[in-house]
Amino acid sequence: MTDKNHYELVILGGGPAGLTAGLYASRARIDHVMIEKGAPGGQVLTTDWVDNYPGFPDGISGFDLMEKMTAQAKRFDVNILTKEVASLDLGDDAVKKLIFHDGSTVTCDSLIICTGASPNKLGIPGEVELLGKGVSYCGTCDAPFYRNMHVAVIGGGDTAVEEADYLTRFASKVTIIHRRDELRATKILQEMAFANKKIEYIWNTRVTGIEGDKEVERLSLIDNNGNTSTLDVQGVFVLIGITPNNSILPIQQLGADQWGFIITDCETRTAIPGVFAAGDIRSKLMRQVINACGEGANAVIAAEHYLISRLEANKLEA
Ligand code: NAP
Repeated sequence: MTDKNHYELVILGGGPAGLTAGLYASRARIDHVMIEKGAPGGQVLTTDWVDNYPGFPDGISGFDLMEKMTAQAKRFDVNILTKEVASLDLGDDAVKKLIFHDGSTVTCDSLIICTGASPNKLGIPGEVELLGKGVSYCGTCDAPFYRNMHVAVIGGGDTAVEEADYLTRFASKVTIIHRRDELRATKILQEMAFANKKIEYIWNTRVTGIEGDKEVERLSLIDNNGNTSTLDVQGVFVLIGITPNNSILPIQQLGADQWGFIITDCETRTAIPGVFAAGDIRSKLMRQVINACGEGANAVIAAEHYLISRLEANKLEA
């Protein structure tokens, strides 16, 4: 980490999008820093196994994948600063300011926001303990691990219903457990799910615990009348919404959708000139490592174009 406080480019966040942006920025010899509050890698660090990232025919653990991405970025001298940003001042188009908890600041000409998103948690016993051992927050990622098994999906929104349908390509049975007596999902998705013979429903019921010795074996349930029961399953997908990591971001200024994800154009540009967004924080359909990486690379190229056009404009003015 070089000891200075102004950069041509700051990358905020060190998950797959941020690390790829760091790799591209360092290879392009852009004066940059990637700021990450913890170890680089983001949420994928805690993902047990990634089976759908190209180049790894046997799959790879999330930890190993992110360690390899970090090592690759470091090979090109990515500049990493481990510090937690408290707030951003993006009021001045020319200079963007990041303020740390200790009051110190870093400024930059361009900024790529890669702060990600977090799946909502149930907060029940067993959820953390059995994560990656039958508890999952992503059907698209983990469905093939549940071939011919009985799994549960918790939630009744679009994601839960779409992922339940996807899971039936592998699982022998999928039980949707919903806290009300009707789904929140759009009607067309509901019709698709109701027509799928492999999907069953438990209505008006909450999951109070996830149990199992080494892997998920059963769920404890309570219905809205207080009756308790258990359900034997080998996997449980908690799909009760995701929250964008936007608490430090001026999202009105950046442009955000109704859930607080940043809206960009197809080149990752936000509403603020020189500010880009990549990865799960972007408003989009699919949130996977593969498109986060692509967007991180794209954002650096877009930032480079922005920096060059600024230089040219300054030359013309001089
Ligand atoms: P969502 O629409 O907010 O649905 C969350 C679901 O989880 C709801 O059914 C909710 O129950 C349930 N839930 C929330 N907290 C819970 C808890 N503590 N315990 C049990 N259940 C809980 O989230 P989403 O499905 O992830 O969708 C997010 C947005 O993305 C939506 O607007 C959706 O339309 C959009 N999306 C679109 C597509 C598509 O167009 N193909 C696909 C996926 C998502 P209640 O219904 O009782 O509140």
